[in-house]
Amino acid sequence: MDLQAIIKSLENCPCGRYHAFDLKVYEADRGLVHKVGDILKQSSFPKKIYIVSDENAMRVSEGILDTLTDFEYELKVYPDMRYAYLSTSREIMEAAKDFDGILSIGTGSVNDVCRYAAAQSNKAFAIFATAPSMDGFASDSAPLIENNFKISYPCRQPSVVIADTDILAAAPIELKAAGFGDILGKYVGIVDWKVANYTVGEYYCENIVSLVKKAVADVVAMADKITACDPEAAKSVMDSLILTGCAMQLAKSTRPASGSEHVVSHYWEIHKLEKGIWPDFHGKKVGIATLLVVRLYKKLLAYKTIEPHAEALDLEDVFKHYSPKNKDEIIGYNVPNPTDDIDPAVLKARWSDILDSIENDLPTEEALYNMMVAAGCTTELADANLTREFAEEALIYSPFMRRRITLLRIISMLGIDTEGLYNC
Ligand SMILES: [Zn+2]
Ligand SMILES: [Zn+2]
Repeated sequence: MDLQAIIKSLENCPCGRYHAFDLKVYEADRGLVHKVGDILKQSSFPKKIYIVSDENAMRVSEGILDTLTDFEYELKVYPDMRYAYLSTSREIMEAAKDFDGILSIGTGSVNDVCRYAAAQSNKAFAIFATAPSMDGFASDSAPLIENNFKISYPCRQPSVVIADTDILAAAPIELKAAGFGDILGKYVGIVDWKVANYTVGEYYCENIVSLVKKAVADVVAMADKITACDPEAAKSVMDSLILTGCAMQLAKSTRPASGSEHVVSHYWEIHKLEKGIWPDFHGKKVGIATLLVVRLYKKLLAYKTIEPHAEALDLEDVFKHYSPKNKDEIIGYNVPNPTDDIDPAVLKARWSDILDSIENDLPTEEALYNMMVAAGCTTELADANLTREFAEEALIYSPFMRRRITLLRIISMLGIDTEGLYNC
């Protein structure tokens, strides 16, 4: 994938925004675990590096340290890192203070804690990716946990991402299916972005949407190869994960890569964390949430016209669905109410455009379900340790844990009968 060509294709974009990203080098190929040192050197990555990984990632990256003969490094291997805690990130910052760069070996949480540490301490940042499990590799923000609440912190993209496609292909099916699920979330993200653009005039870029749509289509075309140990399919998924990560930076917003489905997934996550339950892989939850949100959005096609009104927000009711510890965050996201910016007349006038997006930007529920099954994704709530009640609650209350307009957030403004709408 030619990153510079992508940036070049977005020169003088009609959206008026200058599009660029920090990621300078992205290489994905077979056997690259034996070339990490060379690639870092060619990329002018600093020679004094602090390396962070976990036991799983180090096991599959055998040989990587042997390539770093020209580097001075210290290695910190955590036990399997399932959670990305802000406190871990601070620990890394302290330990890495005498180094010039941070290399993260792994995926998900390991990358996130390093991304924040590198950004906060202004150090160069590189990733060696070990599983195509989510699209955070090229992201410029890091969702970190503190007080069992997850907040996305602005960071910087890594300057280098390296992936050995043999290692990616050999990753557990559950992780590869999770990466596929994370990509599917983009369908909903695009609809929600358009809704925000139509109703409150939020910035929007058609060219970035086209890039994301192509990335999604490329991965969907590989659906039945995801579960196999196939380096070519793994490369295709990784390319798309990188591209959708870059799209966020091109837009300077998470809009191109995440919509209501990500917030639904985060809602499940914070409530499970509160109870001390492992919240499951990010992309696995995002996949299931996408299925639920697509099903719900498609039901809206039955309403050809609407009579919208202002949102009657009952914040006391919202509080009941969050930990008292998170009350301040919830107030911050909802006071003043972001939906106050929506003129019901505008919503009514743009409803046909919203229906058009639901119709054309989303696959049918059946098509979505079939591609998920082909790719080995979880489609049943019970298989992701979720109940119907918890799923329905998330559809109704998750939008309040972000300050952003999504179709899911404004459903109560539509003036429609919501009986059965949230059924999972
Ligand atoms: Zn643009
Ligand atoms: Zn995601």
